[in-house]
Amino acid sequence: MRQKIIAGNWKMNTTLEEGIQLLQAIAVQIKDNTAQVIICPPHTHLASFNDNKDVHKQILIGAQNCADEACGAYTGDISVAMIQPFVKFCIVGHSERRSYHGETNESIKAKIDLLLQHQIQPIFCCGESLEERNNEVHFELVESQIAAALFHLDESSIAQIIIAYEPIWAIGTGHTASSAQAQEMHAFIRSLIAKKYSSAIADRISIIYGGSCNASNAMELFAQSDIDGGLIGGASLKAEEFIKIIQAAN
Ligand code: PEP
Repeated sequence: MRQKIIAGNWKMNTTLEEGIQLLQAIAVQIKDNTAQVIICPPHTHLASFNDNKDVHKQILIGAQNCADEACGAYTGDISVAMIQPFVKFCIVGHSERRSYHGETNESIKAKIDLLLQHQIQPIFCCGESLEERNNEVHFELVESQIAAALFHLDESSIAQIIIAYEPIWAIGTGHTASSAQAQEMHAFIRSLIAKKYSSAIADRISIIYGGSCNASNAMELFAQSDIDGGLIGGASLKAEEFIKIIQAAN
Protein backbone atom coordinates (compact mmCIF):
# COMPACT_ATOMS: atom_id res chain seq x y z
CA MET A 1 0.00 0.00 0.00
CA ARG A 2 1.23 3.51 -0.82
CA GLN A 3 2.22 5.87 1.96
CA LYS A 4 -0.49 8.44 2.72
CA ILE A 5 1.04 11.86 3.27
CA ILE A 6 -0.37 15.04 4.75
CA ALA A 7 2.02 17.96 4.31
CA GLY A 8 1.36 21.42 5.70
CA ASN A 9 2.77 24.34 3.73
CA TRP A 10 2.83 27.29 6.11
CA LYS A 11 4.09 29.68 3.39
CA MET A 12 5.20 33.09 4.76
CA ASN A 13 3.16 32.77 7.95
CA THR A 14 4.05 32.59 11.65
CA THR A 15 6.88 34.16 13.59
CA LEU A 16 9.20 31.64 15.21
CA GLU A 17 7.28 31.90 18.48
CA GLU A 18 3.93 31.39 16.75
CA GLY A 19 5.39 28.53 14.74
CA ILE A 20 6.60 26.69 17.84
CA GLN A 21 3.16 27.07 19.42
CA LEU A 22 1.39 25.82 16.29
CA LEU A 23 3.74 22.87 15.91
CA GLN A 24 3.14 21.90 19.53
CA ALA A 25 -0.63 22.31 19.20
CA ILE A 26 -0.60 19.95 16.21
CA ALA A 27 1.86 17.49 17.74
CA VAL A 28 -0.12 16.94 20.95
CA GLN A 29 -3.24 16.04 19.00
CA ILE A 30 -1.68 13.47 16.70
CA LYS A 31 -2.77 10.02 17.82
CA ASP A 32 -1.62 6.77 16.21
CA ASN A 33 -1.91 8.19 12.71
CA THR A 34 -0.98 6.09 9.74
CA ALA A 35 -0.51 9.02 7.38
CA GLN A 36 2.95 10.57 7.34
CA VAL A 37 2.64 14.13 8.62
CA ILE A 38 5.06 16.72 7.27
CA ILE A 39 5.25 20.40 8.22
CA CYS A 40 7.01 22.88 5.95
CA PRO A 41 7.54 26.06 7.98
CA PRO A 42 9.53 29.15 6.95
CA HIS A 43 13.29 28.55 6.75
CA THR A 44 13.84 30.64 9.89
CA HIS A 45 12.09 27.95 11.98
CA LEU A 46 14.03 24.93 10.78
CA ALA A 47 16.95 24.90 13.24
CA SER A 48 14.71 25.47 16.23
CA PHE A 49 12.22 22.77 15.16
CA ASN A 50 15.16 20.41 14.74
CA ASP A 51 16.46 21.20 18.25
CA ASN A 52 13.03 20.34 19.66
CA LYS A 53 12.40 17.08 17.82
CA ASP A 54 11.22 15.44 21.04
CA VAL A 55 8.03 17.51 21.09
CA HIS A 56 7.01 16.53 17.58
CA LYS A 57 8.20 12.96 17.19
CA GLN A 58 5.43 12.01 14.75
CA ILE A 59 5.93 15.01 12.50
CA LEU A 60 8.68 15.25 9.91
CA ILE A 61 9.93 18.63 8.76
CA GLY A 62 10.30 19.94 5.23
CA ALA A 63 11.47 23.17 3.63
CA GLN A 64 9.33 25.26 1.29
CA ASN A 65 12.03 25.96 -1.25
CA CYS A 66 15.76 25.79 -1.96
CA ALA A 67 18.22 27.40 -4.37
CA ASP A 68 18.93 25.84 -7.74
CA GLU A 69 22.68 26.38 -7.31
CA ALA A 70 24.88 24.64 -4.76
CA CYS A 71 26.48 27.82 -3.35
CA GLY A 72 27.87 31.19 -4.35
CA ALA A 73 26.85 34.78 -5.01
CA TYR A 74 23.07 34.41 -4.78
CA THR A 75 22.01 36.98 -2.21
CA GLY A 76 19.13 35.88 -0.05
CA ASP A 77 18.99 32.33 -1.36
CA ILE A 78 19.19 29.23 0.84
CA SER A 79 21.11 26.23 -0.45
CA VAL A 80 20.21 22.57 -0.17
CA ALA A 81 23.33 21.97 1.96
CA MET A 82 22.11 24.64 4.40
CA ILE A 83 18.72 22.99 4.94
CA GLN A 84 20.00 19.43 4.88
CA PRO A 85 20.65 19.07 8.64
CA PHE A 86 17.06 20.04 9.38
CA VAL A 87 14.75 18.52 6.78
CA LYS A 88 13.75 15.28 5.12
CA PHE A 89 11.58 16.95 2.45
CA CYS A 90 11.50 20.11 0.35
CA ILE A 91 8.67 21.56 -1.75
CA VAL A 92 9.76 22.47 -5.28
CA GLY A 93 7.92 24.05 -8.16
CA HIS A 94 5.09 25.53 -6.12
CA SER A 95 2.95 27.71 -8.38
CA GLU A 96 3.61 30.74 -6.16
CA ARG A 97 7.35 30.28 -6.82
CA ARG A 98 6.72 29.74 -10.51
CA SER A 99 4.57 32.85 -10.86
CA TYR A 100 6.05 35.35 -8.36
CA HIS A 101 9.70 34.34 -8.75
CA GLY A 102 9.74 33.27 -12.37
CA GLU A 103 10.84 29.71 -11.62
CA THR A 104 11.20 27.60 -14.72
CA ASN A 105 11.03 23.87 -15.28
CA GLU A 106 14.83 24.01 -15.79
CA SER A 107 15.51 25.53 -12.37
CA ILE A 108 13.03 23.14 -10.73
CA LYS A 109 14.88 20.24 -12.35
CA ALA A 110 18.19 21.56 -10.97
CA LYS A 111 16.68 21.84 -7.47
CA ILE A 112 15.39 18.28 -7.64
CA ASP A 113 18.84 16.98 -8.58
CA LEU A 114 20.50 18.89 -5.72
CA LEU A 115 17.89 17.66 -3.23
CA LEU A 116 18.31 14.04 -4.26
CA GLN A 117 22.10 14.38 -4.01
CA HIS A 118 21.54 15.48 -0.40
CA GLN A 119 19.04 12.70 0.39
CA ILE A 120 16.11 15.10 0.71
CA GLN A 121 12.81 13.99 -0.83
CA PRO A 122 11.37 16.59 -3.21
CA ILE A 123 7.65 17.34 -3.02
CA PHE A 124 7.24 18.33 -6.65
CA CYS A 125 4.26 20.58 -7.45
CA CYS A 126 2.55 20.71 -10.79
CA GLY A 127 -0.81 21.99 -11.97
CA GLU A 128 -2.64 24.12 -14.48
CA SER A 129 -4.18 27.59 -14.42
CA LEU A 130 -7.91 28.13 -14.86
CA GLU A 131 -7.32 29.37 -18.39
CA GLU A 132 -5.40 26.20 -19.25
CA ARG A 133 -8.20 24.05 -17.85
CA ASN A 134 -10.86 26.04 -19.70
CA ASN A 135 -8.84 25.63 -22.90
CA GLU A 136 -8.64 21.89 -22.18
CA VAL A 137 -4.83 21.81 -22.24
CA HIS A 138 -4.51 20.85 -18.55
CA PHE A 139 -3.36 17.27 -19.19
CA GLU A 140 -0.80 18.46 -21.74
CA LEU A 141 0.46 21.16 -19.40
CA VAL A 142 0.89 18.84 -16.40
CA GLU A 143 2.58 16.26 -18.61
CA SER A 144 5.05 18.87 -19.86
CA GLN A 145 5.86 20.03 -16.30
CA ILE A 146 6.46 16.45 -15.16
CA ALA A 147 8.49 15.44 -18.20
CA ALA A 148 10.70 18.54 -17.97
CA ALA A 149 11.46 18.28 -14.26
CA LEU A 150 11.41 14.55 -13.57
CA PHE A 151 11.87 12.35 -16.61
CA HIS A 152 15.66 12.58 -16.63
CA LEU A 153 15.69 10.67 -13.30
CA ASP A 154 16.56 7.01 -13.09
CA GLU A 155 14.22 4.49 -11.45
CA SER A 156 15.65 4.72 -7.95
CA SER A 157 15.51 8.54 -8.01
CA ILE A 158 11.97 8.86 -9.39
CA ALA A 159 10.83 6.57 -6.58
CA GLN A 160 11.98 9.27 -4.10
CA ILE A 161 9.67 11.92 -5.51
CA ILE A 162 6.34 12.91 -3.98
CA ILE A 163 4.16 14.53 -6.62
CA ALA A 164 1.68 17.20 -5.55
CA TYR A 165 -1.05 18.00 -8.08
CA GLU A 166 -2.07 21.57 -7.32
CA PRO A 167 -4.43 23.20 -9.81
CA ILE A 168 -3.56 26.90 -9.55
CA TRP A 169 -7.22 27.90 -9.66
CA ALA A 170 -7.80 25.96 -6.45
CA ILE A 171 -4.87 27.29 -4.40
CA GLY A 172 -6.00 29.65 -1.67
CA THR A 173 -9.25 30.38 -3.53
CA GLY A 174 -11.72 28.18 -1.66
CA HIS A 175 -12.58 26.52 -5.01
CA THR A 176 -11.30 23.02 -4.54
CA ALA A 177 -11.15 20.59 -7.45
CA SER A 178 -13.97 18.08 -7.28
CA SER A 179 -12.87 14.63 -6.18
CA ALA A 180 -13.60 13.42 -9.74
CA GLN A 181 -11.45 16.15 -11.32
CA ALA A 182 -8.59 15.47 -8.91
CA GLN A 183 -8.83 11.68 -9.29
CA GLU A 184 -8.82 12.01 -13.08
CA MET A 185 -5.60 14.04 -13.04
CA HIS A 186 -3.92 11.83 -10.41
CA ALA A 187 -4.70 8.72 -12.46
CA PHE A 188 -3.31 10.48 -15.53
CA ILE A 189 -0.08 11.39 -13.68
CA ARG A 190 0.28 7.80 -12.46
CA SER A 191 -0.19 6.56 -16.01
CA LEU A 192 2.61 8.87 -17.19
CA ILE A 193 4.98 7.40 -14.60
CA ALA A 194 3.93 3.87 -15.55
CA LYS A 195 4.54 4.58 -19.24
CA LYS A 196 7.96 6.16 -18.68
CA TYR A 197 9.17 3.78 -15.91
CA SER A 198 6.94 0.86 -14.90
CA SER A 199 3.61 0.14 -13.26
CA ALA A 200 5.47 -1.12 -10.21
CA ILE A 201 7.14 2.27 -9.75
CA ALA A 202 3.94 4.19 -10.56
CA ASP A 203 2.11 2.16 -7.91
CA ARG A 204 4.68 3.14 -5.27
CA ILE A 205 4.74 6.90 -5.84
CA SER A 206 2.60 9.06 -3.56
CA ILE A 207 0.59 11.62 -5.51
CA ILE A 208 -1.00 14.15 -3.18
CA TYR A 209 -3.60 16.83 -3.88
CA GLY A 210 -3.33 20.53 -3.01
CA GLY A 211 -5.75 23.39 -3.46
CA SER A 212 -8.27 24.56 -0.83
CA CYS A 213 -8.29 21.16 0.83
CA ASN A 214 -9.99 21.44 4.22
CA ALA A 215 -11.63 19.40 6.96
CA SER A 216 -14.92 19.23 5.03
CA ASN A 217 -13.65 18.01 1.66
CA ALA A 218 -10.56 16.01 2.69
CA MET A 219 -12.24 12.68 3.31
CA GLU A 220 -13.88 12.54 -0.10
CA LEU A 221 -10.68 13.58 -1.87
CA PHE A 222 -8.50 11.09 0.03
CA ALA A 223 -10.99 8.27 -0.65
CA GLN A 224 -10.09 8.40 -4.36
CA SER A 225 -7.90 5.52 -5.44
CA ASP A 226 -5.05 7.67 -6.81
CA ILE A 227 -5.08 10.43 -4.19
CA ASP A 228 -2.54 9.62 -1.51
CA GLY A 229 -3.06 12.58 0.79
CA GLY A 230 -2.73 16.32 0.56
CA LEU A 231 -0.50 19.37 0.47
CA ILE A 232 -2.36 21.79 2.69
CA GLY A 233 -1.84 25.56 2.75
CA GLY A 234 -4.29 27.74 4.67
CA ALA A 235 -5.89 24.91 6.62
CA SER A 236 -2.51 23.77 7.97
CA LEU A 237 -2.28 26.98 10.00
CA LYS A 238 -5.22 25.96 12.21
CA ALA A 239 -4.29 23.04 14.46
CA GLU A 240 -7.85 21.70 14.90
CA GLU A 241 -8.59 21.79 11.20
CA PHE A 242 -5.24 20.30 10.21
CA ILE A 243 -5.76 17.44 12.67
CA LYS A 244 -9.13 16.69 11.09
CA ILE A 245 -7.47 16.57 7.67
CA ILE A 246 -4.83 14.17 9.03
CA GLN A 247 -7.58 11.97 10.45
CA ALA A 248 -9.37 11.99 7.09
CA ALA A 249 -6.33 10.35 5.55
CA ASN A 250 -6.22 7.47 8.04
C1 PEP B 1 -0.63 25.32 -1.32
O1 PEP B 1 -0.27 26.50 -1.39
O2 PEP B 1 0.17 24.40 -1.50
C2 PEP B 1 -2.04 25.09 -1.02
C3 PEP B 1 -2.54 23.91 -1.29
O3 PEP B 1 -2.73 26.14 -0.49
P1 PEP B 1 -4.27 26.14 0.01
O4 PEP B 1 -4.50 24.85 0.75
O5 PEP B 1 -4.36 27.33 0.90
O6 PEP B 1 -5.12 26.23 -1.20
